[in-house]
Parts: sequence; C-alpha cells; structure tokens
Amino acid sequence: MASIIDELLKNNERYAAGEAVHESKHPGKQKIQPAKRLAVVACMDARIDVEDLLGLRTGDAHVIRNAGGVINEDAIRNLVISHHLLDTKEFVLIHHTRCGMLAFTDDLLKAGLEGDQAAEKALAHATGRAFVSPGQSAASPAAFHAFRGDPHPLDADDEQARERLRWDVRRGISAILNHPWLPTSGPDAISVRGFIYDVDTGKLEEVSYPGPIGPAS
Ligand SMILES: [Zn+2]
Repeated sequence: MASIIDELLKNNERYAAGEAVHESKHPGKQKIQPAKRLAVVACMDARIDVEDLLGLRTGDAHVIRNAGGVINEDAIRNLVISHHLLDTKEFVLIHHTRCGMLAFTDDLLKAGLEGDQAAEKALAHATGRAFVSPGQSAASPAAFHAFRGDPHPLDADDEQARERLRWDVRRGISAILNHPWLPTSGPDAISVRGFIYDVDTGKLEEVSYPGPIGPAS
C-alpha cells in the first residue's frame, strides 16, 4: 500500500520550487478524524509552515509542535490520543537545519536560569541577546531536550549539525516504535518516518532508520 507520505514529498518538491500547494480556505464541515490519517511532529521554528511545506489541507493531519519537534512525554501523549482515539496511522517527524536546539545544552540553560554567571554570559554570547536570569531553581521542566553533541553557534548549518539532527530524529523514531501504547504490528500498527527540513531551500531530506543516535549524554 502506498504511503500517504510519498504523496506529501511530491508536494514538498513543488513547494520548494516556489509553488503554493496549501489551500487555506475553509473546507466546510469535516470529520474529526484527520483525512490523511496522519500526525506530524515538528519544531516550533518560525520558518516552518507545516501545512505549506507538505501541501496539507485543513482537516488532513494532526500537527504537533514543540521546541525541536522532540518526542518527549507530551508528544507521546498527543500521538497515543491521535492514533487510538482519532484513527491516525502514519507519523512524520520533522527536524530542521539551523535549529535553536543545536545551540545550547540542558545543563547550560538550567545553570543560566538558576543564576550561574558564567552560564548567563555563555548564553548571552550564544544568542546575541541579554540573558536575564530569574536566579531561581525549579522542579520542572525536568529536561529541555537540547540536541545531543557539542553545541553549534545559533543558526549555524554544517554537516556535523545535520548529523546531530539525524541523531535526534532517530531517537524520536525509536522512542515511538518502542512505546508499549503505540502498536507496530498487526492490523492497528502505526508507522513513522523522519525528515530534516532545510529552512534555506524548503526541501525535506529523509533520515535513514535505524542508524547512529549519537554519543551517550
Ligand atoms: Zn527548531
């Protein structure tokens, strides 16, 4: 059976070539279940328009966004509801070039928020913006999910940065495929594919899976 995602990749080629493939007009009454039985998890980056770049229409898909497009507890919560209650069966993960999640580490951000002056300086240098520390500790969030590996300058794009993105996409795919509440065999199975979106060209590159997921952090 052909994957709906292959159709969306053709839309993406047209989008990257400058064509408008997303129709934004209200479609009228629709069912609650996504028409393409699709859920997309993507970064919140301002340069990404998920519906545009995949040529989705209103009603086609669940679009779940967070910083990095990471598969954290909340993304799993969304996907379990999306699949079991609203009948989606294909998941797409979209990370992207120049992602802000490449530019810091969880430890550095946490230290900066808690008032460590060296961390404040490092974060101000990394972002080009004064980092104003609240100087307080907090129990949550327990993790920011900055991408594994040595931080890159903000908005940088090179092969090592792309490799770090691929690592995180694979970790997300693995987290989904190994979750006990997301079935991967039998008639109710879900499938998942991961991509890197190039914010400069508008093109998607598929991430091979399985593959390297980076050093232990
Ligand atoms: Zn991002």
